[in-house]
Amino acid sequence: MGERRRGTAPKGGPKKISNGQSKDQGQWGRAWEVDWFSLGSVVFLLMFAPLIVYYFVMSCDQYQCSLAAPVLDIYSGKAQLSDIWQKTPRLSWTAVQIYTVWVLFQAFLYVAIPDVCHKFLPGYVGGVQDGARTPAGIINKYEVNGLQAWILTHILWFANAYHFHWFSPTIIVDNWIPLLWCANILGYAVSSFVLVKAYFFPTCADDCKFTGNFFYDYMMGIEFNPRIGKWFDFKLFFNGRPGIVAWTLINLSYAAKQQELYGQVTNSMILVNLLQAIYVVDFFWNEAWYLKTIDICHDHFGWYLGWGDCVWLPYLYTLQGLYLVYNPVQLSTPAAVGILLFGLVGYYIFRMTNHQKDLFRRTDGNCKIWGQRPKYIECSYTSVDGKRHHSKLMISGFWGVARHFNYTGDLMGSLAYCLACGFDHLLPYFYIIYMFILLVHRCIRDEHRCSSKYGKDWKLYTDAVAYRLLPGVF
Ligand code: NDP
Repeated sequence: MGERRRGTAPKGGPKKISNGQSKDQGQWGRAWEVDWFSLGSVVFLLMFAPLIVYYFVMSCDQYQCSLAAPVLDIYSGKAQLSDIWQKTPRLSWTAVQIYTVWVLFQAFLYVAIPDVCHKFLPGYVGGVQDGARTPAGIINKYEVNGLQAWILTHILWFANAYHFHWFSPTIIVDNWIPLLWCANILGYAVSSFVLVKAYFFPTCADDCKFTGNFFYDYMMGIEFNPRIGKWFDFKLFFNGRPGIVAWTLINLSYAAKQQELYGQVTNSMILVNLLQAIYVVDFFWNEAWYLKTIDICHDHFGWYLGWGDCVWLPYLYTLQGLYLVYNPVQLSTPAAVGILLFGLVGYYIFRMTNHQKDLFRRTDGNCKIWGQRPKYIECSYTSVDGKRHHSKLMISGFWGVARHFNYTGDLMGSLAYCLACGFDHLLPYFYIIYMFILLVHRCIRDEHRCSSKYGKDWKLYTDAVAYRLLPGVF
């Protein structure tokens, strides 16, 4: 790699290294045109993702979480598709009420209660924060109050469970399939709304992308950061609030169900609750950082995020807890401790890698990584208004080990949740398989985008840090 483009921040501030700019550097964001492969994948997902979610949840409800049993039953003639469908709980008025109250309550916490946590919690960044520069050159402001929403929601949950008893703590799992229909209604409604909005009243027309293909535009989104009013940002709300705040509540509901059914909560359930709660709280603690991740910085808002946040995330990210309701697993102490440690190491790598990039970007390289000034490659890109902007790609710390070591840590944590469920069924392992595909695909997507954003400067970076996830392997 061209040594002259590598930079090491010297004492007293980062050193600026000159960087060439290629004239053919493209813009970033999702594609402007759709190829046949992407279109095929989009249509496939639109058709099958809702069925996949249904199949997993139904197989727990009717077949003790065995993925093979429904197929075998149909194959052997013991059951027909119509039988399975007949046994599936329908949309209920109770579920509609629960879901409506839930979403409205989260929307209220999001828009109506400015963050106060940053005043009390040292090190926590909340309140009004800047997002990253959009392709049109805009920097949006966000009210970061997710941690506060999570805390208030959980205080109410525990107050109800231990004091008020307004509703049973098993309310979520007891209405799990009727709630699935509600989540689908919201997921499709919001995805359709943002499609229409993009045509008729976009928040920022310069940040819209149209391919002209309905399915691709519907799935991948047209608007970059759709908003209603000044503060209701669709991406930040839908990804974090109905989905991720719910994650820990869903797990608590599963634990309560185990208690109700078996008179105890197994150590595997506690492990899943604990490891996933760490991940969720970490997300909200670092919500300001989330503003700089691919979801906010690059993805447009369509069905992929809208439906995905409402349905895919709460239903499939919580499969381990659901599995343990139907198949309680009591791990030996060494196994439980080993899985806990493995999950915590994965979390540490995930957190530290993300932290290193965040620190590096916030201080413009004027910081210490692993006790030393970080090395970096200076790079530049052009926004659609034709302006040149400068940036840096760090090649120190975990970012010098692999180009996406944060994904590696995330995968380790994900595997830990699955291992807690033992080896009797495939269903709880769906998460690690899915995360592996998601993150490998994300690596490739991100690198394609970075390559078009930074041009030959990106090539210098990939020469310096040769592997994506695991040095020597991939
Ligand atoms: P990253 O946080 O890795 O962000 C990638 C971006 O960082 C690139 O587009 C580039 O943006 C910048 N960048 C890349 N290399 C460098 C470098 N060497 N130095 C400085 N900046 C660099 O990706 P994600 O947003 O995908 O992931 C964030 C976290 O969220 C990850 O830990 C991931 O595991 C997790 N995640 C979890 C998911 C889940 O469903 N549980 C789903 C997706 C992600 P720029 O244009 O600014 O240069």
